[in-house]
Amino acid sequence: MPKYNYDPSAEDRPRADGRLVLGIGDIRGKVGAEREIAYGVDLGELGLESAHVAVVGEVALDLVLGVITEGMGLDGTADASWAGECRRCLNEVKGKTTAEVHEIFEARPTEGETYPLGVETVDIEPAVRDAILLALPLTPLCRDDCPGPDPERFPTTVESDEPVERKPDPRWAALDGLNFDE
Ligand SMILES: [Zn+2]
Repeated sequence: MPKYNYDPSAEDRPRADGRLVLGIGDIRGKVGAEREIAYGVDLGELGLESAHVAVVGEVALDLVLGVITEGMGLDGTADASWAGECRRCLNEVKGKTTAEVHEIFEARPTEGETYPLGVETVDIEPAVRDAILLALPLTPLCRDDCPGPDPERFPTTVESDEPVERKPDPRWAALDGLNFDE
């Protein structure tokens, strides 16, 4: 089984801007042929705005792109450091995550399931980005029991003394319109 190790000095190396467009002309159709992708890339802005979390620095890839009957498979991991805002106290939180990548690239991809495969190249960046986004924390906390910025005034578990305002039950609304005096 031929094994094509990725040569970072080759012309098909990812561009300096971090895009992961790989030349596959030499291995296309050779089922079992592989290419290793083991280096760091700067993916630029990548994060979850809703969670105030974003990747910082380079993402370390340890991936294998392999030719399969359907097209190409991409398997391995992407290690990323992230920084964000604690959702309770809003202080900065940092962490690391390992995204598992198991994706298939096809000439005719299925939306939401597989990624597109070109004739001479394959762009693995969308698959890598998607995998990292899935691995970022949705609700980062500086520590599991973070009490928040002012636990006396704003306890994270709210026990309200105010009476719960009862909403009229719509099933009884019809009765309110009846006038029994008539
Ligand atoms: Zn906190």
